This record gives sequence, structure tokens and C-alpha cells, in this order.
Amino acid sequence: MKKISYIVLTLLMMLSMASCNAKPKAKYVFLFIGDGMGFGAVSVTETYLAQADGGMEQGMAPLAFTGFPVLGAASTFSANSQVTDSSAGGTALSTGTKINNHTMAITPEGDTLTSITYKIHDAGFKVGVAATVCIDHATPGSFYAHNESRSNYYEIGSELGQSGFEFFGGGDFNNPNREGEPSCYEKAEAAGYTIAYGREEFDQKKAETDKIVFFQKREEGRAMNDIPTYLARHDRNNPDDICLAEIVEKGIEFLDNDKGFFMMAEGSKIDYAAHSNALPGLIYETIDMSNAVEVALEFYKKHPKNTLIVVTADHETGGPACRNPRLSIVKGHCLPEQMPEGYVDEAAEGDISDIAGIGWITGNHTGDRVPVFAIGAGSEMFAGCIDNTDIPRRICKAMGVEF
Ligand SMILES: [Zn+2]
Repeated sequence: MKKISYIVLTLLMMLSMASCNAKPKAKYVFLFIGDGMGFGAVSVTETYLAQADGGMEQGMAPLAFTGFPVLGAASTFSANSQVTDSSAGGTALSTGTKINNHTMAITPEGDTLTSITYKIHDAGFKVGVAATVCIDHATPGSFYAHNESRSNYYEIGSELGQSGFEFFGGGDFNNPNREGEPSCYEKAEAAGYTIAYGREEFDQKKAETDKIVFFQKREEGRAMNDIPTYLARHDRNNPDDICLAEIVEKGIEFLDNDKGFFMMAEGSKIDYAAHSNALPGLIYETIDMSNAVEVALEFYKKHPKNTLIVVTADHETGGPACRNPRLSIVKGHCLPEQMPEGYVDEAAEGDISDIAGIGWITGNHTGDRVPVFAIGAGSEMFAGCIDNTDIPRRICKAMGVEF
């Protein structure tokens, strides 16, 4: 009898161990950061989608990530301010440590912090960093560089090559040259990177290299070679323009491997629009990031057991809110060819936010919590009221990487 119960106990233990081991690890991880995308930006955009595309007078239509099963809310204060900037916010998300505003992955005491991208890379995963601003800007920079000032673009861009990460995508270096020193391009190439301008070059060069930088195609007379906004792309109608969704698609193509990968992708210009209280820009940049999340979601559907997608923000900007929204006006104003004949653009004269019934509380960042949407392996860890520094810790835990 004793022997039988011993056998039963052993079997039960083996079964429980097997189920522990069976808990899938996140092998493919996407961290999307909507720069400046608070709860307000998400609500305004969902209301817009219902009113402008759904023809509803009231209601909300989901973005790619608002259908995720897990919702959390992250606090965003920095080491020296209730209201963070993008480099302290980016660093909290990349290293799990709060630092002073305007510094990048360096503590107030001057110690250098290690981004989870390096830990994840050391553990054998491939790593990608993408943004719609220049690749040496605050948020993408926080995932590979360290500097006492986010404005030191040359130094930040110089660190890209040293990272060894397999994929970078987005806007060209902001300030790549310094007299008497190799440029950021030369430093990246010396470290084994291939730089590709535009999708044709990317497709030509991708097979011959294991480390690639994918930039918007260069254009004569365009001061900053970053990724044009959704509305600028609509106006320019330039077939060479790329967007975050395409960068994420190319990133997946380049990074996909049996061991897995981590990709950070920033919808950078939600923040710019919100600083200007520019309602159409806020809406379309949020939609643009949602389209990029959609690409990751398609990947997730192929690998649902071991993919994790987290969508959050570094901070809120502008504090937009729906007062008494009539948001279909925004569509007619921005995309008039999509409206029925005889449509009158009410917003052509006057303040579009006022006419569309949207209020703003500031032209700066706010100190509010930001949303955290999550789906997939380990996503349950992102529920509830958390701090932004919890996010990289929990990503590492989901991936089985020591933090
Ligand atoms: Zn900002």
C-alpha cells in the first residue's frame, strides 16, 4: 500500500514538473512604444475610428492592440521629475532604472546602465531597434546607447555600431559627422553593419550581411531623413516612403530565427503631434503605430505559444480628451478625397480640436499613468497598476533571461 502511494506521488510530481516545463517561454518579443501615447490618445483615436470609418455617432472601434486581453497602467515619473522626458522614460523601459530627465542610460551618480537589449542579446536572441524619428533620438537611443545628454547625437549614433544588434530601422542619423573623427556611418560599417537606404537596397543587401541598418531613402533637399508621418506620406504620395509597419515587417524577416528575437519599435511622432495639440496628427500617428502592431499580431498568430507583444508609452503628451467629439470632421479635413461629394470642410476655418470637440490640457508631457497592452507568453505579468521600470524586468522574466 505504502509502495503504491509512493508511486502515485512520484507520478503526480512528474506530471506537475512536466506542466511547469510546458509553460511556454516568450521566444519572440515585441515592445511597442507610442511616444506620448496616453489613455487619451487611444480613446480619441478609437472614437475617431468609430465616427469617421464606422459611421457611428457614438462608440469606439478598436485599434490593433486595444483588443489585447491584458491591460495595465504604468506610472512614468523620472528620478528628478514627476513628468518624465523621452530619454528618462525610454531608459526606465530599457533598463528598469529611473534616471534624470535629458540623460540616457546613465544614473544621476554617473553610473552606466545596461539595457535589456544587451542582456537579451547575450542570452543568444537576435535584437532589433526601430523608430520613426532618427535612430539616435531619445527613445531608440535608450535601447543601445549611454550619454549624459540626449542631445549628443554624434556620440549616441557612434554607439550603434558597438551594440552588435542585428537590426536597426527608421530615420537616418541626425548628426553623423564630427571633424577629424570617423562618421557614425563609418563606425557602423567598421563594426560590420550594412546600411540600406530604402526597400530596394534592403532587399538587395539583406542576404549578404548579418547586421543591417534600414533607413528611409535619401532625398535631395530634405533636411532630416526621418520617416514621414502618416499625413505627410498621404500628401507626398512618394512611393519611396516607408512606415513603421514596413520597418517591423522587414525587421521580422531579418531577425526571425529558431532561438528567437526581441524588437523594440517606437511610434515616435505621436508625441510631436501632441506637443502641437495637432489633433489629426495625433490620430493618424496612433493609427500608424496600430498598423505596425498589426504586423506583429500576424506573426503572433503563427507562433501564439511563444510570442509576447507589449504596447505602451514612455509618457503621455498633451492630455487630449473627448469633450463632445465629432471626429469625422478630422477625416474630411485630412483626407477630403475619401469623403462624399459635396462634403463641406467645417474645420478649414477655426481650430480643428475645438470644432471636433477635443480638449487638451498642455503642450507638454503630463505625469499621468500610461496604458500597457499585452498579449501572449507572459502577458499576464503586465496587468494592473505597475511602474514603467517593472516592464523590462517582466520582459526578461517572460524570456527566461536574467535581469
Ligand atoms: Zn515629447
